[in-house]
Amino acid sequence: MPPILSPQLKRALADRIRYYNELGVYDFYRRETVTQIQIQPEQREPLPKDKAAAVISQELFPGSTPAESATADPAQALLSIREDIGDCTRCRLAKQGRKQIVFGVGNPRAELMFIGEAPGADEDIQGEPFVGRAGQLLNNMIKAMGLRREQVYIANIIKCRPPGNRTPERDECETCSPFLMRQIATIRPKAIVALGAVAAKTLLAINAPMMELRGHWYDFRGTKLAVTYHPAFLLRDPRQKKEAWKDLQMVMKELGLVAPAAKI
Ligand code: URA
Repeated sequence: MPPILSPQLKRALADRIRYYNELGVYDFYRRETVTQIQIQPEQREPLPKDKAAAVISQELFPGSTPAESATADPAQALLSIREDIGDCTRCRLAKQGRKQIVFGVGNPRAELMFIGEAPGADEDIQGEPFVGRAGQLLNNMIKAMGLRREQVYIANIIKCRPPGNRTPERDECETCSPFLMRQIATIRPKAIVALGAVAAKTLLAINAPMMELRGHWYDFRGTKLAVTYHPAFLLRDPRQKKEAWKDLQMVMKELGLVAPAAKI
């Protein structure tokens, strides 16, 4: 006999389903117990390649839809994520003076993705991440790696400017980051660079000082992730640029990039 759900649990489930629907997720599957779904090896059909990728990606990026994770057209999938966000009012930032949502910019098939913290004043006006002074430094960092801005993808943990550029609150990151997860699942970069502590700590769920976080590779749901200093921090303390350059060289080695003779 199916279990009877209490009215509170029903309401909580309805809320959760509405939340996922708003993220663009409509199909739900009940997880059977292991004994019920055990399949004899000889009965198991190999999944077609795209489907297998979708299933794996679903497990790694639970917020993404299978269509996104194995999509042939990531540009289209990104548009549909943007449509799902709409004129978002899911968190308080919608009412705290943000002008527009800053979705993300760059190559939908980028091998390298940079993730910052939150839009600032310039980004809020222009609707594009990293277009202010920190953005100019990020552009120089990208150029020093032998790449152009248009070749990578740039996004932030949250998509709305916090008032006075304050640090995003945890619940704002939790509300917004599922859309970023869908962007990552769509783009499927070879490597992600988290810019600064907020991006690193949110993505990795680790609370450690930047000095400890940077300089290594992490596994972020199957994608390599490196941490480096936020360009805004490098503007305040340019002596750390040489440390950031070491982090970027680690990333370049992984991606097989050769640097032109330039400095950040
Ligand atoms: N700082 C960020 O973290 N993101 C931007 O888009 C701009 C500045």
